[in-house]
Amino acid sequence: MQLLEMKWTEVAKLSRDMPVVIPIAALEQHGPHMPVFTDSLLLGEVVRRVSEPLQGRVLFAPLLWLGNSHHHLDFPGTVSASPRVYLNMLIDLAESFLFNGFRRLVLLNGHGGNIVPAQQALFELRQRYRSRGDLLLLSATYWTAGDNPNEADSSLRQTQMGHACEWETSMMLRIQPQLVGDYAATEDVEWGRAFAPANRAWVTPDRSTLGHIGYPQKASADKGETLFRVFAAGVVALLERAIAWDGQEWDA
Ligand SMILES: [Zn+2]
Repeated sequence: MQLLEMKWTEVAKLSRDMPVVIPIAALEQHGPHMPVFTDSLLLGEVVRRVSEPLQGRVLFAPLLWLGNSHHHLDFPGTVSASPRVYLNMLIDLAESFLFNGFRRLVLLNGHGGNIVPAQQALFELRQRYRSRGDLLLLSATYWTAGDNPNEADSSLRQTQMGHACEWETSMMLRIQPQLVGDYAATEDVEWGRAFAPANRAWVTPDRSTLGHIGYPQKASADKGETLFRVFAAGVVALLERAIAWDGQEWDA
């Protein structure tokens, strides 16, 4: 069920227990070989794949392409909402649905820089509605929603998401190969000094002069299909649980 195709009178008739999924992505540099709309295109494909099995049981809001990408602003073509603006935008987005009675919201994310703001936005919203015991406010990032794809394809060299990396380049080769540049000529960029167990504050030039992180040379459309399949299955399973939520337990 796609919100952008519906009349308000149709929305008014929906069950308020229907989960509302708000896809959030970005428009930002993706290395020398990938388009700036990568995160939005990939998340859009995940949403397209999951909306079929969930037909009529989940309400999908249109994808928000403006993300929290200030850490990439050194690279031209990046368009970003600053962290506090983004936080407030997510709160207003989610609250619009709460205002009209929806109780189960899922921020479905496709960009690393949105992870912390998405969690924080829902955390603040929960505090604003602290007397409500009937709210399910979730955020999830599509590549960590389900199984690890390495179990499905042992030829994947990466075991985690990078940036414009083997995983993202493979998925783009699967859906829009004409937008992918010379990925075979890219160099490997390691994840860099993580400063564990601390969380390091970083901007992209701290970690990559070319913009990507990971091993895009290893990309293939076949790997992209596997990645989409695994990620979509994880998101469907998560949303099935949001549909089936009994208002109490999550792990039951
Ligand atoms: Zn990306």
